[in-house]
Amino acid sequence: MRRAGLVFAVTMLGASSALAQGTSAPTFPPFGFDMTAVDPSTRPGNDFFQYANGHYLARTEIPSDRPIASRRYEMTDRTDRQLKALLEDAATGVGEQPTDLKGKVGAFYASFMDEPTIDRLGAQAIAPELNAIRNAADLAALARLMGQSAVGFYPSPFGAYVDSDLHNPNAYALYLGQGGLGLPDRDYYLKDSFAPQRQAYRAYAEQLLTLEGWPDPAANAQRVLDFETALAQASWTKVQLRDPDTQYNPVNKAQLQALAPQFPWAPYLEGSGIADRDRFIVTTNTAFPKLAAVVASAPLDTLKAWMAFRVADATAAYLSAPFDQARFAFREQTLLGQKSEAPRWKRAKLAVGGDDCGANPGSCFGTLDWAVGRLYAERYFPASTKAAITSLVGDIKAAFRRRLAKLDWMSPATRQEALKKLDTYTIKVGYPDKWRDYSNVVVRRDDLVGNVRRAAAADWAFYVDRSRGPVDKGDWGMTPQTNDAYNGSLRDIVFPAGILQAPIFDAKADPAFNYGAVGAVIGHELTHGFDDQGRKIDASGALRDWWSPTDATEFKRRAKMLGDQYAQFEPVPGVHINPDLTMGENIADLGGLTMALDAYHASLKGRPAPVLGGLTGDQRVFLGWAQAWAGKGTPDVIRQMTTSDPHSWRKYRVNGVVRNIDGWYPTFKVQPGDKLYLPAAERARIW
Ligand SMILES: [Zn+2]
Repeated sequence: MRRAGLVFAVTMLGASSALAQGTSAPTFPPFGFDMTAVDPSTRPGNDFFQYANGHYLARTEIPSDRPIASRRYEMTDRTDRQLKALLEDAATGVGEQPTDLKGKVGAFYASFMDEPTIDRLGAQAIAPELNAIRNAADLAALARLMGQSAVGFYPSPFGAYVDSDLHNPNAYALYLGQGGLGLPDRDYYLKDSFAPQRQAYRAYAEQLLTLEGWPDPAANAQRVLDFETALAQASWTKVQLRDPDTQYNPVNKAQLQALAPQFPWAPYLEGSGIADRDRFIVTTNTAFPKLAAVVASAPLDTLKAWMAFRVADATAAYLSAPFDQARFAFREQTLLGQKSEAPRWKRAKLAVGGDDCGANPGSCFGTLDWAVGRLYAERYFPASTKAAITSLVGDIKAAFRRRLAKLDWMSPATRQEALKKLDTYTIKVGYPDKWRDYSNVVVRRDDLVGNVRRAAAADWAFYVDRSRGPVDKGDWGMTPQTNDAYNGSLRDIVFPAGILQAPIFDAKADPAFNYGAVGAVIGHELTHGFDDQGRKIDASGALRDWWSPTDATEFKRRAKMLGDQYAQFEPVPGVHINPDLTMGENIADLGGLTMALDAYHASLKGRPAPVLGGLTGDQRVFLGWAQAWAGKGTPDVIRQMTTSDPHSWRKYRVNGVVRNIDGWYPTFKVQPGDKLYLPAAERARIW
């Protein structure tokens, strides 16, 4: 029933949806797919990504202010234009220190746009942090500042965060994990291939230390790099970080001190504002004593130089032009291959409450994200989309349920648990029901760094405060303006308003495209609850492996089959996809598209699919997926993402997946001898 309802709903929404903005045509007329993108000269079986997107890729240029051009970024651009209008509106005529939500958003934005004040202040804006570092008498005093990394701009070899307790899913826990690296991954410190990036990082540290007036910048920059290299050696790899089993190590204060005795934990916890607590879950536990030893054996002056550099790094985007230009040249030009800096309004949007942290992992501060999200959702998100997506989720869930019920490799007991878990999933669409309270955050029109400092502190205080109560099941981990989706620890699938636009979802498009795009993304998110990580969480949300050993072995065998295929892909010369790092996402992509195709078939209720523009229904489902990932990037960004991102580079999210789905072969007449062809026995079948 729901399936029929969906097709109906998606078609019906066309007339009334605000996405339409006054027209009844989909974003890509006439039926929701950009036919001009297809490159008919490529055989689908040789390179399906190129076939589906070739003409789009040929006519699309990577802009100078961003390392990637893609359909997803076009969505972000649409949202950005909306946010720009909203922010400029809020900033117009705003007072010095407004008290209402819109006024605070406007004043924050205005403070970022006020370049004369920012340039006049220079390093003075971070004087409180630099003085605190300079005046620290011993390691304990520095550890107290490191604890404040949760609150503000300081770096720390250990990071604290709040999440639900994996063994008691109705309560929150305080987690402690490794931190401290300023480069994107430990590989950047340890592999020969990243020597140029390390060299540039050292030069960047010297530049910022010079701008701060820190003594001996050249020698200190080298010490900073050596120090972080030692931290990198002590850190877990990204692949190790994917296993939740090893990361649940509850300790009290005494045990924490015993685990990593060389670090002064008491002042660190005081700095974090959690000194009154006596239960912490250490994630990367074997790294802790090593990190503590690295910190304890470093000379005080090295630690101070490191902290001074990283404070400037974390705040450079909010400081005077020389700081920001140094940040851009290293973080975006060198590391990502981006040619020019994004316009100021776009960076201001990120600072006030954008949908990502930009290129700087050290500057992800919670600012007025939810305030911006609230204004955005109120102004731009149609309620009708919420109904359409909720219905589509029901369809995909039903398809997953049918597949699980007849999965030949899973034992009945495990299958029972899987079905039980699937039923517990909830869906959140667009924006949260309850909004964050910003009434205590002071925002001043002339104080950008102060605004970030106060908002980030309020953000951490919010989490610490909340961690004392029961888990908030209505919680959202992404803001409404985010162009992404996730599967959370609350067994919820969250689809912010920002991702619910064409070509991922278009209420006016032919349903087949929506199934192939957002339908497969929904399926993707659902499978995460059941993959090599998700299977360790049971239907109650607790950390418990509910799989029989035989099922686990069989899953791994099938996953390895898929992994071996991906390991062959070489997105840039010399860099292959890491099958272990990307395993969960590759399995999710394959499962998602498989389910989407099933759900589309079920939605037809035995009727033949219409042919549109010469394309069959199944062709449109596959093309919907391929178009969602269309895009290209600079070799640098592809190299960085292939090294550190658990998602395979976009081309392989398409080509790596379709060749494992039986239905793709007849749909596009793929034959033995075609480059992507796999004999039936070599196709990975997981969900
Ligand atoms: Zn995923």
